[in-house]
Amino acid sequence: MNPIYLDNNATTRVAPEVIEAMLPYFGERYGNPSSMHAFGGDVAADLRRARNRLAELLGAKPDEIVFTSCGTESDSTAIWSALRTQPERRHFITSRVEHPAVKNLAEWLAQNGYRVTFVPVDADGRLDVDYFKKHLTEETAIASIMWGNNETGVMFPVEELAALCHERGVMFHTDAVQAVGKVPIDLSHSRIDMLSLSGHKLHGPKGIGALYVRERTTFAPFLRGGHQEQGRRAGTENTAAIVGLGRAAQFVAEHMAEENTRVRALRDRLENGLLKRVPDTYVNGAGQDRLPNTTSIGFDAVEGEAILLMMDRYGICASSGSACTSGSLEPSHVLRAMNVPFTRAHGSIRFSLSVFNTDADVDLVLEKLPPIIERLRQMSPFWKGPSQVACPTT
Ligand SMILES: *Cc1c(COP(=O)(O)O)cnc(C)c1O
Repeated sequence: MNPIYLDNNATTRVAPEVIEAMLPYFGERYGNPSSMHAFGGDVAADLRRARNRLAELLGAKPDEIVFTSCGTESDSTAIWSALRTQPERRHFITSRVEHPAVKNLAEWLAQNGYRVTFVPVDADGRLDVDYFKKHLTEETAIASIMWGNNETGVMFPVEELAALCHERGVMFHTDAVQAVGKVPIDLSHSRIDMLSLSGHKLHGPKGIGALYVRERTTFAPFLRGGHQEQGRRAGTENTAAIVGLGRAAQFVAEHMAEENTRVRALRDRLENGLLKRVPDTYVNGAGQDRLPNTTSIGFDAVEGEAILLMMDRYGICASSGSACTSGSLEPSHVLRAMNVPFTRAHGSIRFSLSVFNTDADVDLVLEKLPPIIERLRQMSPFWKGPSQVACPTT
């Protein structure tokens, strides 16, 4: 069965063009790009082409791209580089709503002798920029603030934050894993020092990421060894995946306009359709500048996991905001940071679309989901009464 795949912030379908571009590197093009012979040199040329394509997507120079194994490695590399090259600076500043790739490193740093500031957000998911500004000090090694939130889609003013950091001589990194490919990015006119991205979030393969490092940025490699990536990331290149990421960069560049028109309209139709059909339903981060593909919807008084299981029967793939994987009953740290009421946070579902979605996908959710919520509410101890299910708003 073909899934109705609305979980593109978790991972994306590898575009057919990308698969095709990668195949030769699992077969006849197995050369090592560092070799002296032409057989390897040909592959080195292919990697240069991939690097150019990715650089073009970002408005960066090819030499500013360091290929890594994933978004998580890119985030860690950036933050550790800043801490290691400025050992006298023991302060790190980030937000309360980062992806675990940054959040869990920040918590580890806080427990291991670093001072860490977690900048709060308001009920709409907006970052407290004044708080950020006030907590930048001469001790701050680096600030790391995500570009677009993976759960709510809320975008932060990273250019403004980068400029504030630049004025104070603080390095600025952004986890742009969700933003790259969805919104235009031009690093040639930017104060951002480092930026992370990941292949599998933009229709490329899993296990490949990149870190943009602005030229002349002081940098310490995370992996030491061979001279790959100009000594900035040792290890024989994942040639197939790098070529795939390069092709994916081209794919998302070609579909950027569609993402911001057709996909955004699909997202809006899904969101507005659910708000209209289901009472006591809220959009987390409503009214904010958001990624065009993402909506996080809170259905009062139901369990997100129950909704997911019931949607799964129809092949509908989405994700819930609660941390069920950790075995806790706590809703996600993002929704908690936004002070989303308990009964709504637990019933929050993230839908994240892509250019592979169609009107029929949205129609199916609009047909199947409202009765699911109604049934679950009738069983819920938190639901106020059956009258509220039946009563339409006029
Ligand atoms: C998925 C994601 C990551 C991690 O990327 P991987 O390639 O899976 O390691 C980091 N940050 C954000 C915002 C993400 O959505």
